[in-house]
Amino acid sequence: MTDLAIQNVARLFNAADRLLFVTGAGVSADSGLPTYRGVGGLYNRGDTEDGVTIEQALSGPVLYRRPELTWKYLWQIGAACSGAQPNAAHRIIAELESQKDEVWVLTQNVDGLHRAAGSKNLVEVHGDMFDLYCTDCGQEYTAAVLFSDYSVMPDLPPLCEKCRGVIRPAVVLFEEMLPREAVEGLAHLASVDFDVVVAVGTTAAFPYIREPLVRALQRARPIVEINPTRTAISADFDYRIELGAGEAMEKIRHSMTRAAV
Ligand SMILES: [Zn+2]
Repeated sequence: MTDLAIQNVARLFNAADRLLFVTGAGVSADSGLPTYRGVGGLYNRGDTEDGVTIEQALSGPVLYRRPELTWKYLWQIGAACSGAQPNAAHRIIAELESQKDEVWVLTQNVDGLHRAAGSKNLVEVHGDMFDLYCTDCGQEYTAAVLFSDYSVMPDLPPLCEKCRGVIRPAVVLFEEMLPREAVEGLAHLASVDFDVVVAVGTTAAFPYIREPLVRALQRARPIVEINPTRTAISADFDYRIELGAGEAMEKIRHSMTRAAV
């Protein structure tokens, strides 16, 4: 079944001019990353050792009231993610962008790996955890400059060198709204009639992640799921490939090349 699904999806990809990839933690997992939103990975136990849930620790209100607590967990996530490299899924999606009329990535991942792989048409709907800014004066920082060595925990929270305000990552924490760029990016995606929409390693739990899939269904465009395990939305897909993101994308590319020769 998987081989047939791969051939069918490769055929769809070859014929498509406009492709949308909707990606989640499953893509990062192939780069050895834990997940950010408490699904498996570092924080699947619910409560932190500080007596709050990870959702509370990583929330906007707690960052405001107890920045040292939020930063303790941001730091652990940053340390776990630092040094990770894009995998085959990131790279093949970026390659397709240079080969097709319009390829977009909508990702809920905050690890910056799509950007590192070379994707430019990119909506990082929850931001990028390695971009930071001062909550008082807006001065921008990068994690590479601020934290050159993740093996040594600095004084947290990091403070702005200009105004001593608390620095935070440009990510959407729990209980926070999506930033304007994300909303604009989503609006652009809504305006494109994608030939195929592919969900890779995501359960599409957020409404704005699920929306492009629903829209494709309404437009009678095929939707594809790449996920090693079935999800709550699996039944809605025209094609399913039950493999990890990197392996699936490598097999699809191989099949695309053979079909094109
Ligand atoms: Zn500042």
